[in-house]
Amino acid sequence: MDLECIPPLDTLTSDDERFMREALKEAKKAFIADEVPVGAVIVFDGKVIARGYNQVESLRDATAHAEMLAITAAEAFFGNWRLEGCTLYCTLEPCPMCAGAMLLSRLDRLVWGAPDKRHGANGSWINLFEKPHPTHALTITNSVLSSWCEQPMKQFFRNKRISHHHRLEVDDDEIE
Ligand SMILES: [Zn+2]
Repeated sequence: MDLECIPPLDTLTSDDERFMREALKEAKKAFIADEVPVGAVIVFDGKVIARGYNQVESLRDATAHAEMLAITAAEAFFGNWRLEGCTLYCTLEPCPMCAGAMLLSRLDRLVWGAPDKRHGANGSWINLFEKPHPTHALTITNSVLSSWCEQPMKQFFRNKRISHHHRLEVDDDEIE
């Protein structure tokens, strides 16, 4: 089933929405690759300098989240692990691993789209950002284009349920 998750540009009203649209393009790449569809971009000085989409299955690596891959790409772009002055846009609320990497890389700002009830580390499951960090302040904006960001996840898990159901039916036929 086709995925409609890229909002028309002329409906967007802020830079945050325009950059989240770029993260949604990454989520769509994950969707097409049959990965849990999460995308991220990192912006510096008004430009996208790094991109990433979830590749846990293709890389067989539980750490290959969109945000981790985008952070690694941004570090390569600067030749430096410090991402001061950067904003990370992610279609999904980050998990604890990615939230930790955002603090360690000294990112300035995080903007996320849809909440993640299972792994969200900004309040949906736990809140790693609840207490101010002793040395580093990360500004957070949530729920940017949230209904658009929910679409790839909803569609992905709906398709999985349908194919699982279909497989069960096939298995039943084979047994008969
Ligand atoms: Zn993560």
